[in-house]
Amino acid sequence: MDLVASAIKGTLDMLPKESHEWHYVESVAADTAKLYGFSEIRTPVFEKTELFQRGVGDTTDVVQKEMYTFNDKGGRSITLRPEGTAGAIRSILEHGLFNEALPVKAYYLTTCYRYEKPQKGRLREFHQFGVECVGAAAPTADAEVITLGKTLLDRLGLQNISLEINSIGCPECRAKYTEALKKYFEEYKSELCPTCLDRLDRNPMRILDCKSEICSKIAENAPKILDYICDDCREHFEKVKACLDAADVKYTVNPSIVRGLDYYTKTVFEFLHNGLAVCAGGRYDGLATELGGVDLPSLGFAAGLERILMIMREQGAEFPTPKKPDLYIAPLGENASAQAVKLCGLLRDEGFSAITDMSGRGLKAQMKYADKIGAKYTLVLGDNEVETSTAKIKDMQSGEQREVALPEGLVSVLYDMSIDKAFDDLHESMAKLEEK
Ligand code: ATP
Ligand code: MG
Repeated sequence: MDLVASAIKGTLDMLPKESHEWHYVESVAADTAKLYGFSEIRTPVFEKTELFQRGVGDTTDVVQKEMYTFNDKGGRSITLRPEGTAGAIRSILEHGLFNEALPVKAYYLTTCYRYEKPQKGRLREFHQFGVECVGAAAPTADAEVITLGKTLLDRLGLQNISLEINSIGCPECRAKYTEALKKYFEEYKSELCPTCLDRLDRNPMRILDCKSEICSKIAENAPKILDYICDDCREHFEKVKACLDAADVKYTVNPSIVRGLDYYTKTVFEFLHNGLAVCAGGRYDGLATELGGVDLPSLGFAAGLERILMIMREQGAEFPTPKKPDLYIAPLGENASAQAVKLCGLLRDEGFSAITDMSGRGLKAQMKYADKIGAKYTLVLGDNEVETSTAKIKDMQSGEQREVALPEGLVSVLYDMSIDKAFDDLHESMAKLEEK
């Protein structure tokens, strides 16, 4: 094949045959969020570039290296969202949702765009499930949000997931910490990468998040934020840990987690699998005011759906099997084809999925097709069947056939057969259970 264009590097197509896996993960995510009292929010895929420069922070890798930014035809600088929080908070502020019941609890399922080096679990277009809990200052909110993340991963059956938490303090304690970091990294000035050299003046904490080998090696022995956080932040962190202990959520404190986005304060956390973050987030008490809004202490997380699916597939997770067509009607001849279309409509009105020929194929080819798509029942409609208004419906698994009056009897026979089959399946699974 000589296609005009192939897919862009770092993007993936979701194919029809795997859509049920995606739908499963998305529906478990949405259901879990709803259980915790979150409702869906949808924001545009693009926003004004300033939103991310201010929200995510202009010394972060995301803003400095990874954003898809362009000028639109009106000359405005536009950016495809690299993450979901900034847009969600913008929307909540813009619509004055903080005047309603607080906290505002919103979840989203969206695409994100980052110009990263594509590799395992790292794409340029990827999907996130995220939650934002806006206007909730208490440590119980942190524990709730972390527990939501854990519940989601548990419900999806992910194995070998660890939870790491840290506190990165507030602007007050961070000022002292920043000084200490500056002093430490000054010693290694000649070895830092050019980006981190710039960060040394503007935001030395970002150096801790640099992916370059040399910088991360130097960062290993840098002062730790937990030694610098103020009494308020420490107390908050202690209470979060106590809530997690009470909820029996296991974690380890990792003083090296700083997260890659500037808006975080106090609690930060990551659910990891083999060193790769599956779900990560934290508190961002200053974000709403940074974006020009009212003071709303908030927190949230985002989970990468491709990473979740990748792990589930690697671990042999069982996905609910997609529903197969109930009936395939094989018409022979033009007259029968028109009847088949009518019968299919009738069945669909009753909630059965009915499929018929679209290619004018012969009986053998049609049966092969019915078999390929896994139709539960088939019905052959020839001139004779049309004339007598009766046909035979066939159970493709057992081979059992039943005569049916057309069109009246079709729906009831299909119901009968489906109920019989449901009972057979039930007996079979009960027998299996008893064997166990
Ligand atoms: P990483 O440290 O792996 O680069 P991150 O800290 O940049 O992750 P966040 O911005 O916190 O990630 O995004 C939340 C989640 O989104 C991550 O934990 C991950 O599961 C997913 N994610 C982030 N970037 C990508 C990407 N380029 N491709 C696929 N998933 C991603
Ligand atoms: Mg990243």
